[in-house]
Amino acid sequence: MNASQSETLITLKGVNKTYQVGDVPLQVLRDVSLTINAGEYISLMGPSGSGKSTLLNMLGLLDRPDSGEFWLDGQPTLALVEERRAQLRARYIGFVFQSFHLLPRLSATENVELPLILSGVKPAQRRESVKQVMAQLHLLDRQHHLPRELSGGQQQRVAIARALVTKPTLLLADEPTGNLDQAAGSEVMNVLEQLNAEGITLITVTHDPVLGDRARRKLSMLDGAIVNDERIGGEVSNASSRPVTV
Ligand code: ADP
Ligand code: MG
Repeated sequence: MNASQSETLITLKGVNKTYQVGDVPLQVLRDVSLTINAGEYISLMGPSGSGKSTLLNMLGLLDRPDSGEFWLDGQPTLALVEERRAQLRARYIGFVFQSFHLLPRLSATENVELPLILSGVKPAQRRESVKQVMAQLHLLDRQHHLPRELSGGQQQRVAIARALVTKPTLLLADEPTGNLDQAAGSEVMNVLEQLNAEGITLITVTHDPVLGDRARRKLSMLDGAIVNDERIGGEVSNASSRPVTV
């Protein structure tokens, strides 16, 4: 199901998003235009509040722009009803968060199995898929542990396993190492980069310039706009940058 490397996976055109905070409109995405090919490894950087999470949530179909266009694998997404967006999300998207978002009363295995239950996969197939992904992330000896019985790095690996178990095309990671010490963070980045090497399209939000530099393409945001789009290796492409007015 994964698109081949040179295919366009995502096209955003002129995407805007404004939140209403009390009486004050707060524009958090400004005319964002972006093309992402299948197989890319992108880091999304920028100061706190610049709109990184909002953009990632948009790409993950968790949020909707007010205006603009968004195609995912050739399909326009903005006019779709929520049920259809949820189907696309289940088929294409894996999400990893800074604070893991594991359910505390479920074991590692049960957390990983949950997306398959929600999408109606039969038990035998679920067991097989979960076992495969737990093995891939070296978690077979932690299957029955509750999240609180795991280290931060192990919890994030469980969260990555949960994101992967549906075989997504696109893995979105919002500061995935933000709650981890350097060793655990580095291990989590290695896991994500290995998945990218095996074909998954990877977008990571990070504050850390060293981690940001590990990607093959760096997007920088400021006040809701993409102000720099840099491919490691030189060429600069379609950044939509506008004068910043706040
Ligand atoms: P980042 O991830 O870069 O730190 P965010 O995308 O989380 O930034 O937020 C961008 C801006 O939008 C911030 O000023 C934030 O306060 C605001 N914001 C985010 N979500 C909401 C919301 N649901 N309602 C109102 N304002 C929001
Ligand atoms: Mg954020």
